[in-house]
Amino acid sequence: MALLGAHVSTAGGAAKAFARGSDIGCESLQIFVKSPNQWRAKPLAQEDVDAFRAARAAAPQPVVAHAAYLINLASPKEDVLERSKAALLDELQRCSALGVDGLVLHPGAHLGAGVDEGLERIARSLDEVLAADPGITTTVLLENTAGQGSTLGASFAELARVLELVDQKDKVAVCLDTCHAFAAGYDLASAEGYRATFDEFFEVLGRERLACVHLNDSKHPLGSRKDRHDNVGAGLIGLDFFARVIHDGALQGLAMVLETPLGDDDLGHKRDLETLRALAPQLAPAGA
Ligand SMILES: [Zn+2]
Ligand SMILES: [Zn+2]
Repeated sequence: MALLGAHVSTAGGAAKAFARGSDIGCESLQIFVKSPNQWRAKPLAQEDVDAFRAARAAAPQPVVAHAAYLINLASPKEDVLERSKAALLDELQRCSALGVDGLVLHPGAHLGAGVDEGLERIARSLDEVLAADPGITTTVLLENTAGQGSTLGASFAELARVLELVDQKDKVAVCLDTCHAFAAGYDLASAEGYRATFDEFFEVLGRERLACVHLNDSKHPLGSRKDRHDNVGAGLIGLDFFARVIHDGALQGLAMVLETPLGDDDLGHKRDLETLRALAPQLAPAGA
């Protein structure tokens, strides 16, 4: 089975994430290593780093972080691009200090400059950032997007293009968001669509590039290009998909984290994890 987890808060110190995760039944975690809506943050304190590493050693599990939403490595605006690269470098250094495995990053939006130019700019920016500090141990995980506006990376082909252009290929992989894929037109709701989606991913990107899954249902329909997450089984992707994906033999041991609504009682992730674990395995249709 996959290692099921959730995005958890680090309020009060990064190490607190582990207790929050274990309280709701996580076997993998996603965190923020700084506020996702701000460019800058104060440096991590060494005691926070030590506490985080100690807590993880006591409960070993995959941990990824999600990068700030402001970062746009495809921006044609020079000042935004420079800030984006600096912000990504800072987050990768924080992640590396903490020992976080991967940093999930929205690839970027070309803002009218065009798809090809945008993808090239992302690859050049990634190389520049990764080359700036040889001490970076955290992998950049490009996340597929719903394809809203001029955002890049809604198709696996676009993500593959960035990987093709990047020099430091061993430091970049992919996080697959199921809500985004569905909104971008990958029909995860049906058995045939499930097979076609993963076959395309494995063919275009390769199984070894899949480092993490964001396990979200979708409030908006297939191909809507709208990014609104829903709780497991409450959205338009539906429970059959989740029963397939968490038991898929090709995805065993992969971190799959929820980014679903928490609800008024803040227990949405706990409920979703219970729902997932209660699902009878659905066999994923055989691969091509
Ligand atoms: Zn996501
Ligand atoms: Zn999303």
